Amino acid sequence: MMPDNKKKILVLGGGFAGMYAARHLEKVLRADEAEISLVNQENYSVYQPMLPEVISGSIGLTDVVSPIRRICPRSHLIMREVESIDLAKKVVTVAPGFRPRRMELPYDYLVIALGGITDFYGMPGMIENAKPFRTLADAVALRNHIIHALEEADVETDPAQRSKLLTFVVAGGGFSGVEVMAELNDFVYAVKRNYSRIRDAQMRCVLVHSGDRILPEMTEDLGRFAQKILVKRGVEIILNDRLEAATSEMAIFKSGIEVPSKTIVSTVPSVISPVLQKLDCKKERGRLLVNGQMELVGHEGVVWALGDCAAAKTKAGTPVPPTAQHAIREATTVANNIAAIMRGSARSEFAFEGLGKLASLGHFSAVADIMGIRISGPLAWLLWRAIYLMKMPGFSQKVRIALDWLVAILFPPDLVQLKMLRGSDIKRQHFEPGDVVFNQGDFGDSVYVIEKGTCEVLREKDGAQQHLADLGAGDYFGEMAVLADVSRNATIRAVSAMEVLLIPKDDFNLLKTTVPAFGDVFTQLAKKRSTAGGESGQPGS
Ligand SMILES: Cc1cc2nc3c(=O)[nH]c(=O)nc-3n(C[C@H](O)[C@H](O)[C@H](O)COP(=O)(O)OP(=O)(O)OC[C@H]3O[C@@H](n4cnc5c(N)ncnc54)[C@H](O)[C@@H]3O)c2cc1C
Repeated sequence: MMPDNKKKILVLGGGFAGMYAARHLEKVLRADEAEISLVNQENYSVYQPMLPEVISGSIGLTDVVSPIRRICPRSHLIMREVESIDLAKKVVTVAPGFRPRRMELPYDYLVIALGGITDFYGMPGMIENAKPFRTLADAVALRNHIIHALEEADVETDPAQRSKLLTFVVAGGGFSGVEVMAELNDFVYAVKRNYSRIRDAQMRCVLVHSGDRILPEMTEDLGRFAQKILVKRGVEIILNDRLEAATSEMAIFKSGIEVPSKTIVSTVPSVISPVLQKLDCKKERGRLLVNGQMELVGHEGVVWALGDCAAAKTKAGTPVPPTAQHAIREATTVANNIAAIMRGSARSEFAFEGLGKLASLGHFSAVADIMGIRISGPLAWLLWRAIYLMKMPGFSQKVRIALDWLVAILFPPDLVQLKMLRGSDIKRQHFEPGDVVFNQGDFGDSVYVIEKGTCEVLREKDGAQQHLADLGAGDYFGEMAVLADVSRNATIRAVSAMEVLLIPKDDFNLLKTTVPAFGDVFTQLAKKRSTAGGESGQPGS
């Protein structure tokens, strides 16, 4: 058999940067040259520029995303979360899936494109009360929340409560904040007439921005035009201020202004994900520092970083802004440079300076600055739609969006609230005699409480299986691996039919921090088991 000389290329992230990198790698490398794998926590890529349109429902939920398997058919998609990257050993560890085992992915070349996350650190009450806007889940949650607020306002009799329900605050006057506000404002005014009791009620849509004008990414005249359009449509714009804290009842600004509201959206700039924050490499402006060829500084020729998580400069020395158009071009540079390294040819520098900027203001209006030509109003809106539709990956997705837009022009917006009630993840499980609850070596992802039945604790050592203990109703197991964040040290097998209460790790940790007595029980038990039992036979697992 011929030895497999294929290089392993691992792409982390399936957004604009990662998905286009994999797609271009598929174009420039033959199947016998490289094995391309892509890790993303979803099996789709979100087309963020159109995400605000999910709020009004003018684009269907699944039409704003592209299935990665169709766009990158030759890449092996691994739908998991990246947990850690070991640059020295050239291994990436991904979280467990249905089977509670972490997976290790070795690589020859690594492409890091994990984008950013919303970080409310240091902003009191924001995690609980403010809504981020980055992912499809964020957009769906916001749409549902807005509809819920309107439904509640329609039955609310207290004027103060009703006014809170009809006040919508968006923080951040950059592209995403402005586009979210424009869509939200259009949506609530368009559907208001369907609610008989609030039809004539006063609505408030408040946009707060830290600068002295919105859209600082664009020229002053376009920023001012956008401001004028929004104000004309009823948006209140508060400048030179910022959202600093949030409660369930109000948004609190830095100036001390308090806006009573049940809907607070924050489009604060993103930070890199914790897995990249931990990475031992050079960073600039909180992002991974790359050279002109998009290689991670200190790991040239092996690791590349691009998109929102990278601090890059163009050939001319301009810092690369976190936009989709730059991420796509960076992806081409990275793929070409990986191919160049593999073939021993010259690598290229990232030289794209941007084609222009567009922001949709909804309702047939937009602002555009394309190669120095500034346009605003309906023409810019048409241009926005034409350009973004063209850029949407996949023909079927393009057709779907075009149809969605047509329907949205012909009919009023849909106001159905998708009820996606998610019960607690704490659940009961049933095991028949002989069923294995978990195996030694599995990832510790849950703690178990036995309600009925019995099980045995088994440990494999030196090729032999030892019976460590029997457990019955009222006993707990699984806490040691969860508390210490390590793998299971024993196997649990049901002896008789057994009912257990399964507490997933996140719920367990939440209970442990909020109810100290609960945590104490398990911490003491784990301590007792590891000192008294450990090797000898206690089941902590
Ligand atoms: C609302 C909004 C509107 C925008 N509008 C525009 C616009 O009009 N024009 C424009 O040019 N730009 C726009 N942008 C910016 C643009 O979308 C980003 O610059 C671009 O998406 C960056 O691409 P990326 O691949 O670096 O990151 P992302 O697109 O965020 O992709 C990162 C990917 O990594 C995955 N991921 C993250 N962490 C993990 C992990 N630990 N394990 C596995 N997978 C992980 C995520 O699920 C995601 O798929 C907008 C952004 C937003 C939020």
